[in-house]
Parts: sequence; C-alpha cells; structure tokens
Amino acid sequence: MITLTGKKISEGVAIGKLAFYKRDIKEIKRIYVKDVEKEIQRFQRAKEKAVSELKVLYDLSIREVGEANAAIFEMQQEILEDPDFNDKISSLILEEKLNVEYIVQESVDILLNDKEFQKKGYNKGHEGDVRDIAIRLIRILSRSFKDKMFMDEPFVLAAGELYPSDTVQLDKTKVLGFVTMYGAINSHTAVLARTKGIPAVIGLGEVLKKDYEGKTIIVDGYEGKVYIEPDYSTLTKMKERRDAGVHQVRNLERLKGKENVTQSGQKIDIFANVGTREDIENVLRSDAGGIGLFRSEFLYMETGNRIPTEDQIFQVYRLAAESMGNNRVVIRVADLGGDKMAQCIDLGRQENPAIGFRGLRVMFEKEELFLEQLRAILRASAFGNVALLLPMITSLEEVIRAKDTIERVKRGLKSDKIPFNASIPIGVMIETPAAVMLSGELAREVDFFSIGTNDLTQLTLGLDRGSHRLSKYYNPYHPALLKMIRIVTNNVHLEGKPISVCGDLAADLSMTEYFIQIGIDELSVAPNQVLALRKKIRDIQ
Ligand code: PEP
Ligand code: MG
Repeated sequence: MITLTGKKISEGVAIGKLAFYKRDIKEIKRIYVKDVEKEIQRFQRAKEKAVSELKVLYDLSIREVGEANAAIFEMQQEILEDPDFNDKISSLILEEKLNVEYIVQESVDILLNDKEFQKKGYNKGHEGDVRDIAIRLIRILSRSFKDKMFMDEPFVLAAGELYPSDTVQLDKTKVLGFVTMYGAINSHTAVLARTKGIPAVIGLGEVLKKDYEGKTIIVDGYEGKVYIEPDYSTLTKMKERRDAGVHQVRNLERLKGKENVTQSGQKIDIFANVGTREDIENVLRSDAGGIGLFRSEFLYMETGNRIPTEDQIFQVYRLAAESMGNNRVVIRVADLGGDKMAQCIDLGRQENPAIGFRGLRVMFEKEELFLEQLRAILRASAFGNVALLLPMITSLEEVIRAKDTIERVKRGLKSDKIPFNASIPIGVMIETPAAVMLSGELAREVDFFSIGTNDLTQLTLGLDRGSHRLSKYYNPYHPALLKMIRIVTNNVHLEGKPISVCGDLAADLSMTEYFIQIGIDELSVAPNQVLALRKKIRDIQ
C-alpha cells in the first residue's frame, strides 16, 4: 500500500480504480503508420461510436433543452455519416500514412474549405460544430476520461492539474472522486468539486505516478490522504468512514424544514451556490432557502468550443427559477476570465489572468455576450423570483453603465412582447477592495450585496488564489479582510439593503458565529454544506 498526502478540497471518501485524465486535442502526436487499413478501421469504429453517443445526446437534449437546441447533435450525426466526410478522412489516411487522430485534427480546416462540404451548408455558422465532431472522434480514439464517462464503471480520476473547464464537465455518476499533482485550495476547480460534492485531494506532487493507472485507490477528502492499493484493514476502515459520511448526511436530513436560528433566536438565511443545470436538483435536495449564487460562467465552460445560445442559457435559468418556486434565485452575470476560461470565448493571452481581463470588463468589451446574458436572465425572471448580480465591481460608473444596458435590454424585450419582471432586483458582488471602499455609494445604487470572500482575499492580499505555491499565504481570516467585511455590512445596512456572503468563507463553520454577530443576512454555500451549516447555527447559544 502506498500512502500519499495532499490538500483536501472536498469532503467524502471515494474508492475505485484510478484513471488518468488525458487532456484532449493538445496532446495529439503525428505518428507514421504502416498498416493503413487498420487505421481506417479504427476511424470507422470511432465514427460508429461517435454516432451512437450523439444519438444519446440528442434524446437527452430534446428532453432538457427542446428540439430546436437538440438539432445540433442531429446535424453532427449527419456529417459523420456523410459519404464525402468518410471518403475524405479515409483517403487522407491512405495518402499520408498517418495516425487517424492526427488526420482528423488536421482535416477540420480542409473540410471547412472543401467546396462539396460548403455546398451542403455545413460550414456556415457551424465551424464550431465541425470542430466539436473532430474533438469527439479524437477523444474516442484516445480513450480519454470523457469517453470513459460514457461507458465504463465509475472511476477515480487523476490528473497533473484539473482546470475548471475540465472539472465542470465531470459526471458525478461516473467520477467517484479526483486527485491531482498540483492545484490550489481556493481555485475554481476546488469550488466546483465542493458544489458537485465530489471528494477530492489535490497537490499530491510528482509522487502521483502514471503507473498507478487501473489500480485501486482510496481518496480521503476528510483528511487529504490518498491510498494506492490499500491493504485490507485500510480498505475496511475507509469503507466504514465512507458509510459513516453517508450516515452523517442522513442524520443531518432531520434538520430539513427546520429554521436557521440560534438558541437565542438570531436568524440567518442559508442559500446555495450552483454552476450548472445538474446542481439545481442538489439545491432542492439540500433544503436551502433558494439559490444565492448562480455562477453563470460555468455554463460557457461545459460546452467545449461551442458557444451556448441565449435560448440554451435561458432554459437553464428558467429551470432554476421554476424549481425554486417563490424562493429567490440570484443569477450572476458570467464572470469569465481569471481561472474561468471558456474554450468557446477567446479572451486572448494574458500575463496575469487573476488580475486581468475578467468579470464585467469582459461583458462591456464583448457586448453581444453581455446582451445575451441579460436577455436570458430577464426572460427567466418571468418564471420565478429572479435577481440579477453583477460580478467584480470596481466603480460606481460600471454599475451605472450596466444598469443602463439592463434598461436597454428591458426596452427591447418589451417591444418584442417578451415577458420579464420589470422591477428585477439588481445586486453587486463585493470582491474588490475598491467595491469595499465604495460600498456606501453603491448601496444607494443597487438593491442587494454579496461578498465574494475568495476574490476579496486574493485581491486584498495581492496573491493569485489559484497559485499552488502561494497557498500557504492565502489567509481568509486576515484582520484586514474581517475589517472589510464589517465595514461593508455596516455601510450596506445603513442604506437598509441586505447583504450575503457567497465566497467559501460562508461555509467555514468557525466563522458562522462572527457572521451572525455582525449582522450578515444570508450565507450561500455549496448544496451539500447547507444542513451542516444549519446544524452549526442551531447549536450557537
Ligand atoms: C468569490 O470570489 O468569493 C466568489 C463567490 O466568486 P467566485 O468564487 O466565482 O470568483
Ligand atoms: Mg469571485
């Protein structure tokens, strides 16, 4: 048995076989092949598998996002089954004598410029979909973990580093847990693991070897330990720990329907954070008072290189709004940038992404994206109790500009006779020191506030929250931060507006009493942290 120690980022125990993540298209090598026939057969098999996957996706999408949005998967099947597509790839393999992965990758642009292909209209507005087909084929050929998610037994995923755009796509029914060599506790990968409730230990270092592929592994997300090929007694002990975790969760279930009130009668709301359609169901199960933070950016990170349409985004928001009934759903305008890079939106290369082109800055420069976001949020407001939250605020001017744009979108919807809530509440995130200093002025401009302690820590202490090396300096309890939280809360309350904490500190049970004392109105945490937080509140004198 080998024992490794890392950083725990998401609680729980996972036991299963280890599978290393093969990062998609970037790793493709150009390999000369002797047996071209065999290579063509590999292509045929991958193609058949891709078609059957697309059929599954089509059926699933019809149910979830409607026929119009599902049509894309039908068109991808059509391309894969097109004889011209088939002949082109097969003849390229024959001529070039190269591996099919490489040919598929290289042939995307050739195909898009091909006259026959163009006549069929596949190139117009569907470049991304053609590239998506190539990615799917290559994944199947290289048997990456996404392919495994379609067919194999559940497994524990291992990687050098997992980026948020990888993590957002993890299927919880297939990925039991994950371990990585690098990564930081406060990164969005960690946030996603907690939101999805996937046990995870990161930062194990180079001792996490590729040779462990296929071996039995235990991920202990409570202690930050990992056991490879565990001995009998460890396996028994960890199975008990896993079951105890389930038992503990069941015990907490008794708190469902109960108030978030201390022994002396002080109340605080508990809401949940989400990032994808799947998380919505977890909120319902968690008994949270609503959704306190919908991280919209994750909707752009789970579609690979295909930009989701306004309608697709709207459908997810609508589902959230309808599922929560009268309970509030706070939808944050996508905070793209930093470590939340979506493959489908090019933000260009940046020297310092953590303090770079992100948040509202991106929305102002990519106005079409901003307008789509606002339209989708406003449309969803007709289906429930939706509020709109603006990320990474640094000035009053930004808020005024955003509000002007919201008014413009409202006018457009009105003239198109599309229903929406004309008095939708507008709130801002407090996650920059500038927003803290301006909180009094901001409180006269907007309806509610949410403190993002993750970015506020990063920007106040001047360190990248995603940096493995700087983890030891990341101190969310720093007196400067606690003072900032207090100042903002007072300023906002002076104007009679409510304030929540939605960063990771909200779930830190050592902080609960403090938040109640200073008058925070709401804490928003990962769905599976809601009941533990309720228990903590109810235990406070
Ligand atoms: C935060 O910064 O604390 C926050 C809630 O936003 P995110 O973690 O998505 O950056
Ligand atoms: Mg933030």
